[in-house]
Amino acid sequence: MKEFLARLISAPSVKGMSETNAPFGADIRKALDVFLSEAEKMGLKTFDCDGYYGWAEYGDGESMIAIACHIDVVPATGNWDYPPFALTEKDGVYYGRGVADDKGAIAIALKLLGELKSSDTKLTHRIRVIVGCDEESGSECMEKYNAVDEPPAFAIVPDADFPVVNSEKGILHVTLAVPIGKLDNEIIEIYGGERPNIVCDKVYAKIKKDGVIGTYITQNGVKNTSNCRKISDTLAKFSVNPKDITLEENEDCYLISCVGIASHAMCPKNGDNAIFKLVSFLYAFANDVDLGALVCLREKICSKDIAKKLCIDCADDESGELTVNLGMIRFDGKNFTLTFDSRIPLCAKPDRVKDALISALDGKTVSSTYSPNLYIPKHSPQIQALLASYEEVVGEKGYCIKTGGGTYARSLPNAVAFGPAFEGFETDIHNANEKIRVCDLDKAYNIYKNAILKLDKIII
Ligand SMILES: [Zn+2]
Repeated sequence: MKEFLARLISAPSVKGMSETNAPFGADIRKALDVFLSEAEKMGLKTFDCDGYYGWAEYGDGESMIAIACHIDVVPATGNWDYPPFALTEKDGVYYGRGVADDKGAIAIALKLLGELKSSDTKLTHRIRVIVGCDEESGSECMEKYNAVDEPPAFAIVPDADFPVVNSEKGILHVTLAVPIGKLDNEIIEIYGGERPNIVCDKVYAKIKKDGVIGTYITQNGVKNTSNCRKISDTLAKFSVNPKDITLEENEDCYLISCVGIASHAMCPKNGDNAIFKLVSFLYAFANDVDLGALVCLREKICSKDIAKKLCIDCADDESGELTVNLGMIRFDGKNFTLTFDSRIPLCAKPDRVKDALISALDGKTVSSTYSPNLYIPKHSPQIQALLASYEEVVGEKGYCIKTGGGTYARSLPNAVAFGPAFEGFETDIHNANEKIRVCDLDKAYNIYKNAILKLDKIII
């Protein structure tokens, strides 16, 4: 297992240029080939969907239970103490890019298939280990799988945490075009945020020198906001720390840059939205200029708790509270758009959030996507089987986890995120020195084996 995991880690399966039979690049193709050739060596049935995904399978039952993993990894940025694309074992811990996300899981899942085969275990279902090649950049692999392959009767997805993640909020992304008022007299461009699912931590605006705001700045001779008492005092009235705002004079405009703190959109309260500071700055110096939707933004949106401000805050025990994040802002002199991410519990509907945003901002929908909640009740036989599998191996009471994040499980039908990370050990996925304890992988192996045997009995 260790030697196979080492070969998987050595294939630096970061997304690259599309090639024949390698839609996500040659390195991911190489890693998939390591998996498929190992499975073939074990005598398992395999399938390669032109490099989108592959699978290995044991058994001959009519329907199939899957363990769905992904073989692509994020780039090895940051300062590593060990080579990221080689497996290092030190003090009972494996290090390397992908050991926890998700190649360690692939290694133990394939080992499990091998053991079922060598012991000739009789099962009602076929057991399939699916290996997707594009989880980190949009899960196109599973789109392909769902379009052309057999849906599993049930699937466990070892791409999250133990004991079991049975509830994931719905995820709404919506971009609204909003009215500009006289903004085009004042501003050349506004640009902030790269993704809807991150609290915006950087935004800039290019301010015309001859507008009302530009004239105010010119009259005050401002080079830098923190050097200017008058501007600092005004900002303080609007609860904006001048240190978060920089103002520079360019030849044809003033460039104002605001910084905040990024955070995942599933918990926007942990961040500090830079867009709100820019809005306050512009509002503070605009006098009675009609700044269009920027004014509505300030009055109805700018808050650590946007859902509350919009009066759509709600929560339930099964899935948690409704959250809204403003991730992106764009103004090119003509078009003004705002992009939101909302995480929606079972008790709310996405249209409620969309309607509230549209009416607060007088907006029109430019684009909108919605990924519904994933929820399997705690008392369902499947979740009970997974919890029992966990408890028997770990010797502790299992429990259900709810999350605002979306796991890989939502890209497959009848799937649930189950391990491989245990509480109390930071695996540093996506960071430098990604790691997993060797004993945790062994435990995960025993849990998955236990779970497959139990699920085989209860899944119809
Ligand atoms: Zn992952």
